[in-house]
Amino acid sequence: MSKRGWIGVDLDGTLAQYDNWVSPDRIGDPIPLMVARVKGWLGQGVEVRIMTARAWNAPQEVIDCIQDWTEKHIGHRLPVTCTKEDGMIQLWDDRAVGVVPNSGLRAESVLHAALKRHHEWHQEDGLEMKLGDVYFDCASAYCDSSLEEETTAALAGYQP
Ligand SMILES: [Mg+2]
Repeated sequence: MSKRGWIGVDLDGTLAQYDNWVSPDRIGDPIPLMVARVKGWLGQGVEVRIMTARAWNAPQEVIDCIQDWTEKHIGHRLPVTCTKEDGMIQLWDDRAVGVVPNSGLRAESVLHAALKRHHEWHQEDGLEMKLGDVYFDCASAYCDSSLEEETTAALAGYQP
């Protein structure tokens, strides 16, 4: 991954647990897999910014509260924004829907089709494998080894 540009990470429901809105100074518990991922990027020298609607027209106290949270759980006071600009290379968000650039295709639909084809190849080779196992194997193969344990736990109950 290029070290130029920055990765936007949503707060509520992505980096922090979120059930419903309480107040600007109430931020949920950290989500370990996502926190580990952010720490990994920072360790590689990649800039990470918190991309949250909380920052829209927000007083400095609200920004301070978010940065207190990131300092406590990530060890850095990360920049906070609600502005997507050209330097943003990725956005991690629980509401975003990924699309294949310039196509209008949902990225997950393309991934699903690729994994389904992978599954068919296994069947053609006489290998008995559930589609869910193909998902699991592919996800495990591509995950960062430092996140393997967390990723395995996160995928344990996954049934496509
Ligand atoms: Mg969210």
